[in-house]
Amino acid sequence: METPRLLGKIIIKGIIEAKTGLHIGGSQVKLEIGGVDLPVVRDSLSNRPYIPGSSLKGKMRSLLEKAKGKTPTENLATEEHPIRIHLCKSPEELQKCEVCKIFGMPSSSPEKGQKAFNEPTRLIVRDAPLTDEIAVELEGLELPYSEVKWENAIDRITSAANPRQVERVPAGAEFEFELVYNVFEEADLELLKHVCEALSLVEHDYLGGHGSRGYGQVVFKDIKMWWNSREDYESGNIDVAEKSPINEDYNTPSAILKNFDGIREKIGIGGA
Ligand SMILES: [Zn+2]
Repeated sequence: METPRLLGKIIIKGIIEAKTGLHIGGSQVKLEIGGVDLPVVRDSLSNRPYIPGSSLKGKMRSLLEKAKGKTPTENLATEEHPIRIHLCKSPEELQKCEVCKIFGMPSSSPEKGQKAFNEPTRLIVRDAPLTDEIAVELEGLELPYSEVKWENAIDRITSAANPRQVERVPAGAEFEFELVYNVFEEADLELLKHVCEALSLVEHDYLGGHGSRGYGQVVFKDIKMWWNSREDYESGNIDVAEKSPINEDYNTPSAILKNFDGIREKIGIGGA
């Protein structure tokens, strides 16, 4: 397969607002005395909770797989991260697959008589830190930036109640997210729709754990998108603060989708 040449990158920034308490599990290795049973993941320098890019990306991928009717085929399960994902089985299948094009796939183990193939990742999802504004508001909580709730888990075998303390970031918390979308060919601009679609699907699902108890409802807002072409990288013209967003005032996933063709035209390749 030819190595694709980059045409440019779309930088997408915005705010994730937690509409309900958010629990994205952290490491229990450092359990302190008096610590909660299920702590949230925290940045080790600032001690502030954050949303790992891998959590958001994994949720986007699995919801898009379901929406597009892709059956999980690969068991990438480890004890720590049990996960089954869809990966295409042939280059022909891959050409038509939004999921593997957007999220990329590692080199395949070819069947007899076939060449190995892979697909570069188009979507990069960065870790999303708490906004400074919200962090200041949450500093005075019992645990810094979070609250603790008792949840009663019922043991499925013995039916015994097993109350556990679940740490969560309270409703109203806001995080700064950033996505980078690599454009290798004109058709990739069309695929960007499915990234926005995945964000909408996450809004109607949940992030993190305990979603069945109402945790983890989020919305994406104040979204801004910028286009940096290959030439912009060559000339250093890549500071998005100096550029106009290509999505104007359409700043939610659904508003961007509804106005997608106009936004796409602002990018000076392909249809423009
Ligand atoms: Zn696929």
